[in-house]
Amino acid sequence: MRTARAFRIHHNANGHHAGVETLTIANPEPGEVLIRVRYSSVNYKDALAGTGTGKILRQFPLTGGIDASGTVEVSAHADFHPGDAVLVTGWGLSFDHDGGYCEYLCVPGDWLTALPPGLDLAASMTLGTAGLTAALAVHQMLLNGQEPSMGPILVTGASGGVGCIAVALLAKLGFEVAAVSGKSERKAWLQNLGAKQILARDELPTGQRPLEKAVWGGAIDNVGGAMLAQITRTLAPNGCIASIGLAGGTELHTTVMPFILRGIKLLGCNSVDVPRDLRQKLWSHLGSDWRLNLEPIRTDSIGLDRLPVIFERMLDGQTHGRVLVNPH
Ligand code: NDP
Repeated sequence: MRTARAFRIHHNANGHHAGVETLTIANPEPGEVLIRVRYSSVNYKDALAGTGTGKILRQFPLTGGIDASGTVEVSAHADFHPGDAVLVTGWGLSFDHDGGYCEYLCVPGDWLTALPPGLDLAASMTLGTAGLTAALAVHQMLLNGQEPSMGPILVTGASGGVGCIAVALLAKLGFEVAAVSGKSERKAWLQNLGAKQILARDELPTGQRPLEKAVWGGAIDNVGGAMLAQITRTLAPNGCIASIGLAGGTELHTTVMPFILRGIKLLGCNSVDVPRDLRQKLWSHLGSDWRLNLEPIRTDSIGLDRLPVIFERMLDGQTHGRVLVNPH
């Protein structure tokens, strides 16, 4: 038995409360692996869960954090051995299972991905769920025929975690990137990541006809709502929209016209349950031919105590890039 510091989320008759506590960590059951967590990260979903703003957790109390990387401490799974470097994102973390905001984490071994060559533990969590999701979006777009010659790819919520990694990844793969951001002060930063055009949120075309002038070859959308609806009207024939997020709303009011007359494709992206083989493939890409300069992307590094402040700032739209969490 070990004890460890953890960021715990409670919901009971007194409502939501969360903070750092000391936990007793059990040894792994058959099929499980205990990892010594080296890093986690902050995602929008972590902020929703940690503040109680969104209904993310299915049981209480739980340790927060949908991401973790570290080394295997004790293994009861045939594929993993003490000292192996591993990462885990999504699955049941901070949903119906304790998450990565703890010095130790015990998970089913089937949830783990071996750290790919080309990434260290800090790089893997600078990417984290945001990086895997951006990679999943690009992978799906490429599978569905997206090509640079079709026109610029619009990335919404571009200064956020998924957004900024998507900007850098698309630019690396030879796509022209148009970034939509509510933060005018991040223009130079987004250009440095690879965006050719930067648009304020209110600079997107506003026409409300089912089909407006086609200006974007494709899109990676982190915002949803009216912005996503507008993208469907202005996409070039056969272009793909990877639908990722809901930072601006969950509704989608559009018509079938862009789908049946321009053949556009709306690709849903779910990073939580990505099958193991595809995960390994995407992480391998992120460590090799899709490897990015993560220095400008990692904008902060914090301990567990600062999580509540970062959560509030993130939900208020004040953060940019990726925040690394060191639970020790
Ligand atoms: P971040 O908070 O890092 O980024 C979100 C960005 O969206 C903000 O930085 C901001 O960018 C923009 N934004 C925020 N509020 C609004 C608004 N009201 N209207 C328009 N734009 C807004 O979050 P993440 O990158 O972690 O996640 C982005 C979205 O994707 C979230 O909705 C999250 O839940 C979802 N997500 C989904 C996943 C999946 O598997 N489908 C996986 C990971 C995330 P700017 O200021 O530059 O405009």
